Amino acid sequence: MGNNNSPINKISPLSLLIFILLAGICIFACNNKGERISETNPNMEELPQFRYNPDAEKLGIITRIETDCPACKKTRSAVYEGPFYASEEIEGLCPWCIKDGSAARIFQGSFQDGTSCEPVEKKEYFLELTERTPGYSGRQQEKWLSHCGDFCAFKGYAGWQEIKSISKELEKDLGVIRAAHNLTQEELENSLVNNGSMQGYLFQCLHCKTHRITVDLD
Ligand SMILES: [Zn+2]
Ligand SMILES: [Zn+2]
Repeated sequence: MGNNNSPINKISPLSLLIFILLAGICIFACNNKGERISETNPNMEELPQFRYNPDAEKLGIITRIETDCPACKKTRSAVYEGPFYASEEIEGLCPWCIKDGSAARIFQGSFQDGTSCEPVEKKEYFLELTERTPGYSGRQQEKWLSHCGDFCAFKGYAGWQEIKSISKELEKDLGVIRAAHNLTQEELENSLVNNGSMQGYLFQCLHCKTHRITVDLD
């Protein structure tokens, strides 16, 4: 019996060593494979950040659908679904070609109509918005609001339900909307419905965080 135990005791450290070596090789191989996946799998590409449209993915303006981007001519893992104003109809742009300005440059286009922007202090802000920022989809011509001398961030599509908790903050804009559409406050609350006949577009100042709103009709 003693003889049976001793070979096992001798083999065990060797088995352990082999096991450690094999495990090491496995971990090494798995890590390499992981790296290869992140390099080649387009789903691993991180979306670019946009100052004036920070929630573009959440709002469905950029979606995680593969596209053959007409600007970079590559298959990319996300596609832009918002407006693009150019002489030819361009579809399937990737967000990376928006971010680096190549889409606007190649097709001489813009993502926001320059005449429908509120004033800002620097030309650079204007170029960043119109040439390197995803737009949003309005019923009519989209307006881009400003505050504190800079463009606001687009925060989403909204109706009275979505904005009533911040209605005091929006009172100046709501007053303009009531006057422009000849509405009482009650009529405004009933008409302003997300996906309804009057659509609200909510913005927020990047500097003082004040919210702003604009609306359009079907
Ligand atoms: Zn592209
Ligand atoms: Zn502000």
